[in-house]
Amino acid sequence: MAPFYAMTVSEFVAALGLKGHDVFDLEWRLSEGQGALIAAWTGLSPETVQAMTFRELGSAARMMIARKNRHTCPLCPEELHRKSAALPWRFSCPVHAVEFRDATGETLSDRFGADCFKKLEGHAEAGAAYLDAWARSAGQGDLEAPEVLQVLTARHRRASPPNVDEQPRMSLQTRRDYHDFLTTPILRQALTVVVPEYDQVAPVLTKPVRPGLHALAQGSLLQAFALTVGIDRIIEDPVKWAISIKLMSDAEGQGRVREALRSWPLSLRRRISARFWRAERDESARQSAEKAARQRQSHKYRTIQSHKYRYRIS
Ligand SMILES: [Zn+2]
Repeated sequence: MAPFYAMTVSEFVAALGLKGHDVFDLEWRLSEGQGALIAAWTGLSPETVQAMTFRELGSAARMMIARKNRHTCPLCPEELHRKSAALPWRFSCPVHAVEFRDATGETLSDRFGADCFKKLEGHAEAGAAYLDAWARSAGQGDLEAPEVLQVLTARHRRASPPNVDEQPRMSLQTRRDYHDFLTTPILRQALTVVVPEYDQVAPVLTKPVRPGLHALAQGSLLQAFALTVGIDRIIEDPVKWAISIKLMSDAEGQGRVREALRSWPLSLRRRISARFWRAERDESARQSAEKAARQRQSHKYRTIQSHKYRYRIS
């Protein structure tokens, strides 16, 4: 409203008689008196003024509210901060329905490719609906958003330098020049197991996300999108994904994944353990069958070789 009255925000707050108040606090929740004051000054109804705040959000979601625009809509004025775009799981402008752009001007469909983005969009929408319900502390099923994010951001493998797929093509000389980059250990998180599409397109140095809720609150457009997709996938089938993550973990990461899963309901953890045990057994059976096949193959090869050899010397 401040630009409408040709004022800065702090001038506007002072004119309302609320000098010294942090606008972020006012946007979070207004007391009845503050609401009435603003209503009287602006001619809006007290209900309209209250509807501009985040009062319907639970306190756990407060850290999710951005103080300024996270991303930009090419059609919206820059100084306009929409309430609905303050939460990190919004990926397009609510008014113009065009994709948001990140700081470099890139959209998510640029990054993923249009086809891949289309496939992920449904998951992102369902994930956003789930997060909206969580933010309003509306009752949901078995799993709360922080518990899902704990698992998605768990470091399931030890940190390792960029692998061949993650490295740009480089000449030998360039490789020498960028030795530091090529040997920087990158955190490896379960998000890349649940959303392999993110693993493929995320720039390697900015692939790691912050732990837990901070991953969403402070993530980039790409990170927040991948997390929202991952949340929906886990909510759809928590047992399947927990097992996939555990199977992809190394010895060091397994303990951390187990720790992250500890906040999940016991009934869910029991189902995960039972199915993980079977999955692990099947996996080791598959591996030993493969090994046996390889041995048979090489044995056969050796036999042929020795026959040939004998044939030649005789
Ligand atoms: Zn817009």
